[in-house]
Amino acid sequence: MILGCIADDFTGATDLASMLVKGGMRAVQTIGVPDGPVPDVDAVVIALKSRTIDSREAIRSSLAALRWLKANGAQQIYFKYCSTFDSTADGNIGPVAEALMIALNTDFTIACPAFPENGRTIFRGYLYVGDVLLSESGMKDHPLTPMTDANLVRVLQAQTTRRVGLVRYDTVARGPAAIRERIAALKEEHVEMAVVDAVSDADLVAIGEACEDMPLVTAGSGVGLGLARNAAAKGRLAHIKEAGALPRVEGASAVLSGSCSVATNAQVAEWMKSHPALRIDPLALADGMPVVKDALAWAKELLGNGPVLIYATSTPEEVRAVQAKLGVEAAGKLVEDALASLAQGLVEAGVRKLVVAGGETSGAVVQALGVRMLRIGPQIDPGVPWTLAEGGQYSIALALKSGNFGGVDFFAKALGSIA
Ligand code: ADP
Repeated sequence: MILGCIADDFTGATDLASMLVKGGMRAVQTIGVPDGPVPDVDAVVIALKSRTIDSREAIRSSLAALRWLKANGAQQIYFKYCSTFDSTADGNIGPVAEALMIALNTDFTIACPAFPENGRTIFRGYLYVGDVLLSESGMKDHPLTPMTDANLVRVLQAQTTRRVGLVRYDTVARGPAAIRERIAALKEEHVEMAVVDAVSDADLVAIGEACEDMPLVTAGSGVGLGLARNAAAKGRLAHIKEAGALPRVEGASAVLSGSCSVATNAQVAEWMKSHPALRIDPLALADGMPVVKDALAWAKELLGNGPVLIYATSTPEEVRAVQAKLGVEAAGKLVEDALASLAQGLVEAGVRKLVVAGGETSGAVVQALGVRMLRIGPQIDPGVPWTLAEGGQYSIALALKSGNFGGVDFFAKALGSIA
């Protein structure tokens, strides 16, 4: 295992694993710390749920993941967080990075959430989302991790006792040797963590080369591409051509959507123009109506003719109305449980290719299907690959899409690409 990765949430883990595959590594994602063997791969990404939990608990679960990765031969450790540096006032990026540094007995690491392909760039330590600063982007209003300061040196310094520095763009642009030189100078100044500027994939590759021997790298998914491309260029990857190959899966196809994001609403509307779709009503669920049973009966009638979509996806006004009646959490849980039961029912009915929209929804579906591990296949859209679920009762191809990812025709594109 060249790279052992610890990701602070589920779809973020998939995003990183997909980047590594794109760069030529064979990768699997595990749901939590594995309790059994994993296949022979170049990278293992352990998905935790440690982004917004208490920082002590985040440290505990991250160290458990680290122990497993080291015990299974990981040559380098990668702590993956969101490309918008999502963190609470307590962290957890700083505290977890610091705990990993102590455990790995290392006195230096980088912090680089850049993901240029998705518009996340860093210049002079300031993180941009598209054309605006992080603090002017939608992230300023995030319900759990509002990001009100775009200066990552300041944000990270507030989360750690280690001294935080910066590798500026003018250095990064001069390439790996210049980056290494700057890191050596920062170490002389007792800096132990450095935010690294990056505005393009070429910068990520330079950073990947400069950091190839670093025991710990902390970053978004972008630097993963740089590390993989560097490993490929150095001839360390023996299976580049078949890195994203998945065995063929036979069976029916379906889409389940529990995301209410702008992108998913558009994707559902696009699908409905030419494919069968059924909406499940949260209020009918709350009234104890046989919504899941009826939806399954509907799906079973149609599955032989082609893929179907079952969705709870609604507009913000509709969601607010449901939440006002049922409560935010209760409504979310009710819909997640229903979609998870539907996933089980669909698999029992012969579905083996399943697209799921929604981060929390994906987590609920994966848990209901008893999946412990995902082998990462080819990318469908940036950040979303096809995966093969392993560890459950059946082999199922899963495409797990977090809310705002994917183009408007994502569902048909995904199913078309493995038909
Ligand atoms: P995203 O990735 O877009 O954030 P998630 O699946 O993570 O999607 O979150 C969407 C949440 O909204 C889930 O908890 C889901 O159960 C809930 N939900 C879905 N449809 C509705 C609805 N019609 N009314 C209320 N809540 C809903």
